[in-house]
Amino acid sequence: MTGHRGNESFVAIEGIIASDPGRRRIGPLVRAGDLEAAANRLIAARSVTIATGFFIPSAGACETDGPPGAAAMSEALRELGVSVRFLTDLRCAPVLARGGLDPLDIFESGRAELNPPDVLVAIERPGRAADGCVYNSRGIDISEFVEPIDELFREQTKLGKATIGIGDGGNEIGMGKVAGLVGEYVPRGDTIACAVATESLIVAGVSNWGAWGLIAALSIRVGQCLLPASEPARAQLDRLVAAGAVDGLTGECTPTVDGMSWHVHADILEQLREVVTLRG
Ligand code: MG
Ligand code: MG
Repeated sequence: MTGHRGNESFVAIEGIIASDPGRRRIGPLVRAGDLEAAANRLIAARSVTIATGFFIPSAGACETDGPPGAAAMSEALRELGVSVRFLTDLRCAPVLARGGLDPLDIFESGRAELNPPDVLVAIERPGRAADGCVYNSRGIDISEFVEPIDELFREQTKLGKATIGIGDGGNEIGMGKVAGLVGEYVPRGDTIACAVATESLIVAGVSNWGAWGLIAALSIRVGQCLLPASEPARAQLDRLVAAGAVDGLTGECTPTVDGMSWHVHADILEQLREVVTLRG
């Protein structure tokens, strides 16, 4: 594979995952080159921790966007011999544990004694805004339901270690890198924009798609398809829903993500698999 073909593939992947069916106007937030930079960091890593879990207070459970992407990424990284752990807080932990995310570390304020991994990744994990509060996409303050896992990203950065953020709405860990643009383009962005930045930021129409996009980029880099097929990806979503995960948009315990049925997600996954298998 030539470098040129590799670059074309990364651009194709960025285009696929930036599909914006939720019309959140995320296009301007996409950082060209970050996908490749993130993949390179993961390839060089021996240990990766993936933080995920977005608690929906009205439903009393975490949502279906994030954990499926985290599970898929762990499988891809383990295939490459990387040691992977998951990280969440107490409210999200029951669903993630029952949904098969293992080993799972639980963050409790003041009791975080985690060995910093080579790369710390956040997938659809809420983070604090400039005023120190955490907001959902509707602009409601949900701080009391969110443990400050975002602080670990700041510490990781201070240690000079790699961080990757994946998000779809502007209020997730990593978006501090483009907080000004979130304020400009995303509804209520001035209020909700997460102020915590990551070294690489992957913005997607749905955060699970961002995770798949990163796996696709990784696949191009190593010349091996690491993406899940549609059936096991759907089965992973079903496991999480059976464990109590809810759609973040509707609050309902259904195998949908951000209000979209599985066929929409399967189509994105199929497009990514085509890029990897045709051009990888
Ligand atoms: Mg989101
Ligand atoms: Mg989402």
